[in-house]
Amino acid sequence: MGSESLVHVFLVSFPGQGHVNPLLRLGKRLASKGLLVTFTTPESIGKEMRKASNITDELVPVGDGYIRFEFFEDGWDENEPRRQDLDQYLPQLELIGKEVIPRMIQKNAEQGRPVSCLINNPFIPWVSDVADSLGLPSAMLWVQSCACFTAYYYYYHNLVPFPSEKEPEIDVQLPCIPLLKHDEVPSFLYPTTPYPFLRRAILGQYNKLDKPFCILMESFQELEPEIIEYMSKICPIKPVGPLFMNPKAANSAVRGDFMKADDSIIEWLDSKPPSSVVYISFGSVVYLKQEQVDEIAYGLLNSGVSFLWVMKPPQKDAGLELLVLPDGFLEKVGDNGKVVQWSPQEKVLAHPSVACFATHCGWNSTMESLSSGMPVIAFPQWGDQVTDAVYLVDVFKTGIRMCRGEAEDRIIPREEVEKCLLEAISKGPQAEERKRNALKWMKAAEEAVAEGGSSDRNLQAFVDDVKRISL
Ligand code: UDP
Repeated sequence: MGSESLVHVFLVSFPGQGHVNPLLRLGKRLASKGLLVTFTTPESIGKEMRKASNITDELVPVGDGYIRFEFFEDGWDENEPRRQDLDQYLPQLELIGKEVIPRMIQKNAEQGRPVSCLINNPFIPWVSDVADSLGLPSAMLWVQSCACFTAYYYYYHNLVPFPSEKEPEIDVQLPCIPLLKHDEVPSFLYPTTPYPFLRRAILGQYNKLDKPFCILMESFQELEPEIIEYMSKICPIKPVGPLFMNPKAANSAVRGDFMKADDSIIEWLDSKPPSSVVYISFGSVVYLKQEQVDEIAYGLLNSGVSFLWVMKPPQKDAGLELLVLPDGFLEKVGDNGKVVQWSPQEKVLAHPSVACFATHCGWNSTMESLSSGMPVIAFPQWGDQVTDAVYLVDVFKTGIRMCRGEAEDRIIPREEVEKCLLEAISKGPQAEERKRNALKWMKAAEEAVAEGGSSDRNLQAFVDDVKRISL
């Protein structure tokens, strides 16, 4: 079928890697179910995606449908330092987006591609206002766990006590969620958080939670059964994850990386024995302190463990110093380790040589580890990562705890790093138990996205709703 007769959904993403990845993956899943999907985000990131991920203006077939890209100027020069300050950038994005997105949608209609639904991810809740103004339905993709969705919901509506300046150390009891200690709730909710602008950015979505007709969620029923059940009675949530698993378009080359991955990584992993390498990566935003990098480096050297370590360069204009490795580190490591700036993480996690993933516990990385059957070392830094770490270690039982709460303000010493690394590649009963659990989650994830599985049914119901509304 030609693309012009397909129902068309328009996806608007906040320009962050951790936002683009799940929304683009959702786009691919929707396309594979026979929709035409347009993905948009500001040109500042579009430019990087074109370079790193070979994105063009062509329509790309995915399963039974198609995906295409359109980027828009957000009105600020790409080197504008105010981009780094969400309190300044988000209102700018809203101002421009409310003007530009309706024009893009209008143009699509004129070109024979009328839009039936808008979908956004967190930080840009105004997309549902745009949809309203055009008389279109909107949906939102929540890109964290249902547990964190609930924590923010309960905080926003003041439903249970959270740590406050007066009582900074109280535990938080949320329904269907294990008791969270004061430093296990998403850290942007701590009274002392140095990132109140991130709290405002996330909670902005809750101001408009009644607008989207559906809240799609990057989780799956079997992973968080009780809390999903509970919150479904309060909000129109539909878990559709893990989004990166796409049985109908597993080979689709469409990716949204902002940086090109080092081509030699997989070849290097191929040369290593099975389950021998620890993969170390802290996502796209976290930038460690130099002192912590030194401790990790010495922990690696002292343990002798084979490793693949992603050390990203700092973001432009973030005012950060380039991190360096200790003198002679790479020579001492030789072929036992590899340091890169960006990796093809999904492929790395699926590689048989990788034994464990030392992660900051961002939700995308968490879902990717679980659905790849990969045990983890949990090294959360901030935000939802601290809660995800609790789940990885205590609930999903696939993780070793490197630290609890926010690691940002302290340095984990090399001895602790070494201990965790050795434990990660050991063959003892606890390591076996973590691997068994990880494989159990992988199987559950595969079943959820397979035809007729819980996530597949939810996504199909969403597609059917959009088709019905568009008639
Ligand atoms: N990622 C990647 N290569 C890397 C590091 C990260 O492809 O070298 C991807 C990873 O697979 C994930 C995303 O970047 O999809 C990071 O999202 P996450 O939620 O884990 O962390 P954030 O960057 O939002 O803190």
